[in-house]
Amino acid sequence: MEILIVEDELEIANLIKLYLEKEGFTCHLCRDGIQALTLAAQVQPDVMVLDLMLPGLDGLEVCARIRQQPGAKDPYILMVTARGEEVDRIVGLSTGADDYLVKPFSPRELVARVRALLRRSLRQGGQSPQYQSPHFQVDPSQRTATRLGHNQPPEALNLTTLEFDLLATFVSYPGRVWTRTQLIERLWGDDFYGDERIVDAHIARLRKKVEPDPSQPSFIKTVIGVGYKFEDAPDPEADAQSDALHG
Ligand code: CA
Repeated sequence: MEILIVEDELEIANLIKLYLEKEGFTCHLCRDGIQALTLAAQVQPDVMVLDLMLPGLDGLEVCARIRQQPGAKDPYILMVTARGEEVDRIVGLSTGADDYLVKPFSPRELVARVRALLRRSLRQGGQSPQYQSPHFQVDPSQRTATRLGHNQPPEALNLTTLEFDLLATFVSYPGRVWTRTQLIERLWGDDFYGDERIVDAHIARLRKKVEPDPSQPSFIKTVIGVGYKFEDAPDPEADAQSDALHG
C-alpha cells in the first residue's frame, strides 16, 4: 500500500511518515501542491494525506485536480487542516476529500483513519452482481457506473470511490429510505470517526454528477428529518413509445 504525504511542515510530515511506516505502509513525502500532482501521477498512491495549507497549490486545488485526472487510479484523500473552521469549507465545498482530520491530531488517530479508508477498499473486493435501474447501470466488480437515457447513448459516469459506493447502494435498493448513520455503516463500516455531515457532502457531489438538475433532484431525494432515498422510473416518453409499439 502506497501513501503519499503532502505536508509542508517537515516535522509533522516526518512524524506522519514514521507512524505509517511502522504500520507497514510505503510512504512518499512532498512539500508543495505542484510536486504533489507530479508525484501522485508517478506513484499512484492508495491514500493521500493532504495538508490544506500548502505553498504553490493549496490542498483543495490539489484534491480537485486529482479528482479530474481521467483514468488514473483514484486515491482515497484524507485532508488535514490546521483550523476547525476550515472543516466547513472542506465539507461544504465539493472538494473530493474522503475524510478529514483537524490539527493537532494524534498520529494514532491518523493511522486509524488511513486503515479505515483502506479497509473500505478491501471490503469492496468481492464478486457482486450488477445493479440496474431505468437510468443507471452499476457494476461493482468492474467499478463502472453508466447513465442510461431515453434516446441518448449510455454515458460512463466519472465517480470517486465513495460516490460510486453511494450510487451502488442506492441503485441496489430503489425506494429504500437511508438514514445518514445507515449510509455510514454501509460505506465505512465500524471505522467511521468523522462527522455525519460528510455524508451530505458526498451526496451533493454525487447529485452534481447524476442529476439533470442537482437543485431539484429527481433520483436521489432528501427525506426530510430522516435521510435519503433513491427513486428511478422510466422516462414518460419511453412509456409512450412502448405503448405505441404495443398498440
Ligand atoms: Ca501546511
